[in-house]
Amino acid sequence: MRKNIVVANWKMNLNRVDAVTLVSSVLDKLSSRNQIEVVFAPSFVYLYKVANMCKNTTNVFVASQDCSANDDGSFTGEVSASMIHSCGARYVILGHSERRINFSETNELLRLKAKQALANSLDVIFCCGESLEQRKNGVYLESIKSQISDSLFHFSESEFSHIVIAYEPIWAIGTGVTASSDQAQEVHSFIRSIIADQYGDNVADSTSILYGGSCNSSNAAEIFSQKDIDGGLIGGASLNASDFVHITSLL
Ligand code: PEP
Repeated sequence: MRKNIVVANWKMNLNRVDAVTLVSSVLDKLSSRNQIEVVFAPSFVYLYKVANMCKNTTNVFVASQDCSANDDGSFTGEVSASMIHSCGARYVILGHSERRINFSETNELLRLKAKQALANSLDVIFCCGESLEQRKNGVYLESIKSQISDSLFHFSESEFSHIVIAYEPIWAIGTGVTASSDQAQEVHSFIRSIIADQYGDNVADSTSILYGGSCNSSNAAEIFSQKDIDGGLIGGASLNASDFVHITSLL
């Protein structure tokens, strides 16, 4: 049975006081439905604090927004997967298009980061998505397939059970333009089919595939109603407690 998950990707937003206020407010407003997971992805510097605030819940977890591809050691400024795990995080987001584009992260680098995450008991929320140009040229499915297969398909079946996929069309992130539910469903179903080809139907059926890209409290119900969409990765709308909690209630 795959999990339904809504992730709040705060990106590089919020000061410490505002971060704590937002988490308190979301925790107060969340219903105790425990069939969905809610995940906060704050900046590294708030991970420990946010994880502590969530530790008495059964369904609210914490993710980092990245991790190093290296073990602990002489890598000034880097944050290792073992450090993230020691702060109480359960997940790490990898491959967000903002990191692929602004920090030149390649499929090969993400393969190494995913290996570090799994080796340190972190589950991976792996982002993939196409540019507007790739969509217009009709090569978006190939692009998504290579992002997933190059970075993840060397893992064993049991390792792959610790991976969540997030489909995030680049043209929809932070733009206010969301994919239509049909466009999103087409890609989610394609992702499930390539996982089935690699690992079989059982693994494909139990992999959670989230949608991200200008998902908000007005359009989430329609997107979440699609059969291969198991939740959302929410950027801008996750910075407002009422909007974010409303989105979680639509799943
Ligand atoms: C994201 O950053 O993952 C994202 C989906 O952002 P937004 O919801 O703001 O488009």
